Amino acid sequence: MRLSHHYVIPHISTGDMLRAAVKSRTMLGREAERYLDAGELIPDEIVLKMVAERLDQDDTKSRGFVLDGFPRTVTQAAGLDGLLAPGELDLVIDLEVPREVVLERLASRRVCVDCGAIYSTTAPPRVPWNCDVCGGEVVQREDDTEVAIKRRLDLYDHETAPLVAWYSKACKLAVVSGLGSPDEVFDRLVELVDAKRGPGWFEPPPSGADAGPP
Ligand code: AMP
Repeated sequence: MRLSHHYVIPHISTGDMLRAAVKSRTMLGREAERYLDAGELIPDEIVLKMVAERLDQDDTKSRGFVLDGFPRTVTQAAGLDGLLAPGELDLVIDLEVPREVVLERLASRRVCVDCGAIYSTTAPPRVPWNCDVCGGEVVQREDDTEVAIKRRLDLYDHETAPLVAWYSKACKLAVVSGLGSPDEVFDRLVELVDAKRGPGWFEPPPSGADAGPP
């Protein structure tokens, strides 16, 4: 999310989109809820349709976008290639964090139900538990329980880890350490993206531009 604010481009998080659908009780949300709560992956065709509709919106057409949590399977990656053709992804970032650190971070994570701002038990909002950004309620995600986290990590190993080879072969992959403070990781990512982007990759944003809601 911070990257999208920094570069003034849309942040497209499939997890956020699915949680919003669950909250507003749409047909997609009712179907997705049981997968989300159990930490299971939503079927590829559903996620691909959702992403196709999102990428069809005008705000993705001029300055690019950040995809977050997608693709998570090789089928999704192949589907994404089809959606972007004749264009293609500029860069894929593999944020490397040891499993025990991921477990610790997710178990202590707290999120704002309204704007999605992220906190932790060690870095809570100023007023417990009201979001510093929008005043919304800050809670533990349903799927941040120990059982669901373990399931998500196992799924990562089986379904998502093969994407490292997939994007490495396509010469799109950069591996970055996700260890350290949020600021340290963010600085590493900006350095990488700035080094990768050639002149003209992102035009400077028009003054007063806003990427819209995160
Ligand atoms: P996230 O917020 O990215 O951790 O995603 C939360 C949950 O949403 C995941 O555990 C899955 O149940 C579902 N989800 C998000 N993105 C995807 C995806 N690309 N493919 C399948 N399921 C997804």
